[in-house]
Amino acid sequence: MSVTEKLLRVFRVDQQLGGLQSRLHAAERFLNEQTRQLQEIESKRAQLDGQLKQIQVGVSDHEGEMARLDAKMEKLREQMNSAKTNKEYKAFLTELNTFKADRSSLETEALEQMTKADALKKQVADLEVQRAERDKVRQVAAAERDARAEEIKDRLNQLKAERDKLVAEVPADAMKLYLDLVRTKGDEVMAPVEELDRRHHEYHCGSCQMTLPIETVAALIKSQVVTRCVSCGCILYIEKETAATVQPAAKRGKAKDVPAL
Ligand SMILES: [Zn+2]
Repeated sequence: MSVTEKLLRVFRVDQQLGGLQSRLHAAERFLNEQTRQLQEIESKRAQLDGQLKQIQVGVSDHEGEMARLDAKMEKLREQMNSAKTNKEYKAFLTELNTFKADRSSLETEALEQMTKADALKKQVADLEVQRAERDKVRQVAAAERDARAEEIKDRLNQLKAERDKLVAEVPADAMKLYLDLVRTKGDEVMAPVEELDRRHHEYHCGSCQMTLPIETVAALIKSQVVTRCVSCGCILYIEKETAATVQPAAKRGKAKDVPAL
């Protein structure tokens, strides 16, 4: 068996693994998205909680300051009642009015802050509703993911064991090439040679559809080297029926310039 055929057996199992796991991977992606959205809501909420706390501290500072002014004004009123001269009385009154004005602006600020706090509390409540809804969706998504994983567990282990056996038979350098291609190209790393025109011996790469020189195709049949499509880099393989149509041409020409491993 050629290295290409050995690789092809691994590729076929990888295709089965990909198909088997596609629903699981979709369920995992959905779950991850729900988790991400939930975290986003929670971090927004933490931010709002922080702002709310800050405002509440401000309100209570203002209230404390207002209470101090109230006490001062109360004392001034007593002093005014016992004022001995008109001048003394007027001085207390002026001071009292200043305190009143200060208190009034403090009160306005405190009210503004309380309005802001109410708006924030409403936002927090809205987020809490969103969080609860998202959490429900996330729980359903997690159950779905677990169900998909359970569903394919046995077949998955079977295929993985089969793959391990097949991989062990592939030469290390060819396996490395295959895995490097999986990393860069994704799952479609092997492509069949496809016959375009039998009479003219025209063949192309089943992945990128670029025409393949007959020498490449002939060499793929004859030699044991791994052959890649010069255009897309896929590892080429050839089905028996296709190979049968190539033979006469292969005898005619000499194989050369074959992109090999
Ligand atoms: Zn190609």
